[in-house]
Amino acid sequence: MAANDTGTAETRTEAEWRRSLTPRQYRVLREHGTERAGTSPLDHEKRTGTFACAGCGQPLFDSATKFESGTGWPSFYAPLDGAVETQTDRSFFMTRTEVHCARCQGHLGHVFDDGPAPTGLRYCMNGVAMTFEPQE
Ligand SMILES: [Zn+2]
Repeated sequence: MAANDTGTAETRTEAEWRRSLTPRQYRVLREHGTERAGTSPLDHEKRTGTFACAGCGQPLFDSATKFESGTGWPSFYAPLDGAVETQTDRSFFMTRTEVHCARCQGHLGHVFDDGPAPTGLRYCMNGVAMTFEPQE
């Protein structure tokens, strides 16, 4: 293992996050930003594989749970077991459920209850907060 001067994902400081992420990734993952709809290439990703946290690399979603929501953001009906956590977000005069990475706490997006079967959930994710690993 090479020396890593940005610490581990669990203990990284905000200054270290700023160095290890692009400005757009930092805005979403660490400042709860939302990318502009339709700007993420991952929205159109159709291959089989795994979507992972751009902050720490933790696998978050299997491509089998991705669906076309028509919102302009990558959308999934279920995360991988234990990959994400949620909390109530009351910003913008709305009550929404915020979704973040269970490992590094990076903000990923929101979950809504108007998704397809089998869960009825719609995990509306910021593509910039994730990376895609196609299956070999
Ligand atoms: Zn993470």
